[in-house]
Amino acid sequence: MLLLAHVGYTVVGGWAAQRLRLKNTVDFRLLAVMAVLPDIIDRTLFLFIIPDAQSGRLIAHTLAFQLALLTALVVIRRGFWIYGLASLMHLALDSQTLAASQALWPLLGSGLENVQIGGGEAPGAGQSFGERVLDRLEVDGSNYTSLDLIDILFEVGGLLLLTAFAISTRIFERHHLLSLLLRGTASRRR
Ligand SMILES: [Zn+2]
Repeated sequence: MLLLAHVGYTVVGGWAAQRLRLKNTVDFRLLAVMAVLPDIIDRTLFLFIIPDAQSGRLIAHTLAFQLALLTALVVIRRGFWIYGLASLMHLALDSQTLAASQALWPLLGSGLENVQIGGGEAPGAGQSFGERVLDRLEVDGSNYTSLDLIDILFEVGGLLLLTAFAISTRIFERHHLLSLLLRGTASRRR
């Protein structure tokens, strides 16, 4: 799943939670970042750090990583659970195209090949760092050029939800937009 769908479903989920019963104010900027955190982490590792990485979905696309992250956030501050949940939701939304051996790693086999590290020739293997990064950017970019109908529908759904969020929080009005950008808050008015 791609950017708009991840951010759209997660931000609107947080918005609904805030309207329903959350006492804490949600920082929607942070929520949006957490919605795509697994991709930020794994793509950075894939592009720049792990030469043997096979794809842009690695260790952060595992339930074990997500639960550890959720636990760490709750230990830091109890109210942070919603940000851990946002990242966990990324995994749920990706699960359709994620192998069980990766999502549940290391339960179905602890080999690193299950988290797409090693186990075959990695994209750009044997090339210089710069060439490898370019090769991998191309691999990553192909995700966007090979979208199927389901992906497109999910993206459109994400866009519609973000539009509904923008309208109902009235971010087209200057002070609402500024409070979202500067403080991450969205109007709680019903
Ligand atoms: Zn992902």
